[in-house]
Order: sequence, then C-alpha cells, then structure tokens
Amino acid sequence: MKRVVIIGGGIAGLSAAWSLREHQLGVVRTGASEAQALEVVVLERHGSLGGNIKTEKTDGFLIEGGPDCFLSEKPWALALCKRLGLEDELLGTNEEKRKTFVLSNGRLHVLPEGVILMVPTKLLPFAASSLISIPGKIRMAMEFFIPKKKDDKDETLGSFVRRRLGQEALDKIAEPLVAGVHAGDPATMSVRACFPKFVQLEEEHGSLIRGMLKRLSAAKGAPTPPASAKKKITMFMTLKGGLSTLIDTLNERLLSSENTSIKTGVNVIGVHKKGAGYEALAQDGSAIEADVVVVAAPAWAASALLMALDDKLAEKLNAIPYVSTATVTIAFKRDAIRHPLNGFGFVVPKTEKRRIMAATWTSVKFDYRSPDDAVLIRCFVGGSKNAELVSLSDAEMLGMVREELKDIMGIDAEPMLARVFRWFNSMPQYTVGHEERVAAIEALVSKHPGLYVTGSAYHGIGISDSVRNAEITAKKVLHLLAQ
Ligand SMILES: Cc1cc2nc3c(=O)[nH]c(=O)nc-3n(C[C@H](O)[C@H](O)[C@H](O)COP(=O)(O)OP(=O)(O)OC[C@H]3O[C@@H](n4cnc5c(N)ncnc54)[C@H](O)[C@@H]3O)c2cc1C
Repeated sequence: MKRVVIIGGGIAGLSAAWSLREHQLGVVRTGASEAQALEVVVLERHGSLGGNIKTEKTDGFLIEGGPDCFLSEKPWALALCKRLGLEDELLGTNEEKRKTFVLSNGRLHVLPEGVILMVPTKLLPFAASSLISIPGKIRMAMEFFIPKKKDDKDETLGSFVRRRLGQEALDKIAEPLVAGVHAGDPATMSVRACFPKFVQLEEEHGSLIRGMLKRLSAAKGAPTPPASAKKKITMFMTLKGGLSTLIDTLNERLLSSENTSIKTGVNVIGVHKKGAGYEALAQDGSAIEADVVVVAAPAWAASALLMALDDKLAEKLNAIPYVSTATVTIAFKRDAIRHPLNGFGFVVPKTEKRRIMAATWTSVKFDYRSPDDAVLIRCFVGGSKNAELVSLSDAEMLGMVREELKDIMGIDAEPMLARVFRWFNSMPQYTVGHEERVAAIEALVSKHPGLYVTGSAYHGIGISDSVRNAEITAKKVLHLLAQ
C-alpha cells in the first residue's frame, strides 16, 4: 500500500488529507480495489489540530483566536463545508449592520458605501463621505483618466494605489484595509500576488473604476439565483459553532476513514530520501517512511524540514517573509458602552500612529458570539507596523488595547472577559517578486518526485485559498500515484 505523509495539521494539511480520501471514496463507488491502496498519515507538532484556526467557548461567548471567517467569493472553503455536511452550520454576517469605519484624525468615519476594497463605485456616498478630503476625492475620481501602466512588471501595492488613486486613498483606505486583512505593509506587498484582480482590471479596462463598474453592471444582468441558493451567503462566512467546527469535522471524517491516521504532538525535524520514497524524522526519534510527503507547514518550517534534502529549496522557502500578530478579544456589558456599535468594526491607518491595526465588533458582525446583554470586540495587534507589541505580556497587551478602545470608542467600562492569542510568524507576506519566488520553489520541489508543499505561503493567504491549494496538491499526488 502506498503511504502519503502530510506534515502539518492546519486547514491546508487536513484539507489535503480529506481531498485524498474524497477522491478515494469516488473510487469506492466505481468498485475499484485501489480504494484500499492508499494510507494517509497526518503529523502535527502541536497537541491539537487547526494551526491558526482556534475557537474557544466560554461563559456564553464564542471567541475566535485566529481567523473568524472565510471569503465566499473564493468558493473553496464554502464548498468544503457543504461537502462535509456543514450547510446548516454556515453563518453569514448581519448585513443590515454592514458598515466599516476608518479612523481619521482621531475620529471614526464610515468607509463610503460602494468602495470595493479601495475603488469607489457609487458616486453619492463617495461624494458625501467625510473620510476623504475634496482634493483627495478629485484625485481618486481622476483614476478614470489615468493611462494604464506600460509594462507588466510587478510593483508594490503602495506604488499601484498611489499611481492610480492617489496618496490619500492609499493612506486612508488601502493601507488600513490591507493591514487589517494581511497584516502587511503596502510599501513591500506585491500587487500582483495579493490583488491580481486589480492588476487585471487595469490591464483589461485601463481603469479600476471603469472595470469595476462594468463588472458590477454585468453581474446585475446575471440571472438571480433562487432564494434557497442565496440563503445566508454573504461576503464573509463562518460557522455557527466557530471555525474549529470545520477542523473537528475534518478530523472526525478522516479518523473514520480506512487507512487514515492523525498523530498530534509529532514535531517533524527532517525529511530524507529513503529508497524510492522518503522518511520523515520526528524530534522524539521516531521515523516514518512515505511514498509521498506533503509539507503543509508554514514556509519557514518547511524550510527547516527540507534543509538536509535540498538546501537551495530550503533557502527559497525561507525567503518568504512572515509577520507576527495577536488578537485581543474583550467582552463588555452592552449597557456599559455608549458607542452605538453600528457596523462591523474599524480599521486604523498607519498615519494615526495607534497601537491597534483594526477592531471587529464581533457580536454585531455575527450572531451566536455573545449573550444578548453583552458585546464582544476583537482587536488586532502587531503585523508589519508594530511587531514588537505581540511580545507584550497579557496584562500589558490588555491595558494597551483598553487605552486604545477608550480613545477611539470612548469605552471605559470594566471588561467581563478578555483573551489574548499570539500568532508568531503566522502571516506570510507576499512581497514584490512573490510569484517568481513561488515559481522557483515549485521548480525545485518538482525535482523531488513525490514531494509537495502546500499552505497559505504560496497561492493565497486566506483559508479558502489554502483549501484550494491543498485540493490541487491532493490531485497531483493521486495523479503521480496512478502513474
Ligand atoms: C490572527 C489571524 C487572523 C486570520 N484571519 C483570517 C480570516 O479571517 N480569514 C481567512 O481566510 N484567513 C485568515 N487568516 C489566515 C488563515 O489563518 C490561514 O490562511 C490558514 O489558517 C493557513 O492554514 P495552513 O494550514 O496553511 O497553516 P497553519 O494554520 O499555520 O498550519 C500549519 C500547521 O503545521 C504545523 N507544523 C509546523 N511545523 C511542523 C512540523 N515541523 N511538524 C509537524 N507539524 C508542523 C503547525 O503546528 C500548524 O498546525 C488569519 C491568520 C491569523 C494568524
């Protein structure tokens, strides 16, 4: 029997394992005997699965330590949930409260309706917005007439936005939004790797605004899906019981599949060639042989594991930078807060010089997150702006976040509960040249038949892209084994 060893029990490793099993289940239905021919072993260094995904339930609150949702526009996580039978667990955002605020000159301003990431698509809300100055608005509107870039070289997000929409759009919209999502710095982020759609809009339509308006009007003409299909699908989706439900379900399904095992507490320290395949060595001295190895650990961890096998590959993997972040979730009694909490939260531009990057008003954004008489607020700390803050003690971090919430939202109440989660070297940064780096990594990996790398380091940083990449990797594995 062929053995596939997957290193890393985050969403990428588990999705890759499940995808292998799903394909095999397809084989079972056709009656072929190969259904028995594959053993899948997942090795995870921590005592629990999920990697960055961690849900905690306490005193009627549901707290996400890492991600709190996935994008439905990228359909792979949603599709996986549905295939796992989690359709009834799917939870969309409370759309009637859908507003994002941006801190500017110490005050929260609504991000104008119709601004899609950074591109204005609705004239009136944009014109009426208090966020952008009149010269800033004129400069953004001029985007319509700015000629497209002549070459197809990659550039930083900062240079792209400044060139097309101006400095104010970069400072007040693009920078805080990407810092809130990618924990990244537009001065180094690759626009091609992080926002390929914007590059495509410029290439195809010569203007982001023109391209976006065309796409929106084409979407309006599309047939409306039946009401049942539209059920609860919003831009950001989660699961009622938190994202760990996805991890727990994958774990259960895998464990009830034949020839599948998941071993936690196994820190793999090296992968070596052995015969026609490989051997994965763990820190406790144990070793496991494999026909195929899928490394679903962060790129820096993959680099350490693969150093002995291929130092050039290890060097390239290590060249993908990561930043550290922390989330601080605080609960308050609802009546102890004067702020109307009339949105999903706010983002903080670097120019405001604050110590948090963003805050989500979690109990407004999603149901089932707190008791009715309480609110849950989740703040993001660290990232490329303030990495050193991630190392503050819990008490210091909480004190700092409370000071920020007092200044920004006027909250001076005593918290009912607070939780700090630190994520060291957890967010890959797709800096300029990322696509070339990944191509070079994949070329080096392909020199080792039966070796694969997958995860958020390569083709998309979010959960959905990680699922997609893992499923593509599983297909490649099966293709190789079928040869
Ligand atoms: C604070 C935060 C908020 C986020 N918010 C969102 C969000 O709202 N929506 C979204 O789509 N994405 C979000 N993300 C990104 C999302 O978490 C990732 O896309 C996704 O979880 C990556 O999964 P992964 O399996 O590739 O990596 P990981 O989750 O990092 O999993 C890798 C696993 O490999 C294991 N491992 C590492 N080295 C070894 C070894 N030597 N031996 C064995 N095992 C090893 C690790 O312990 C870990 O469990 C967020 C990330 C963070 C940190």
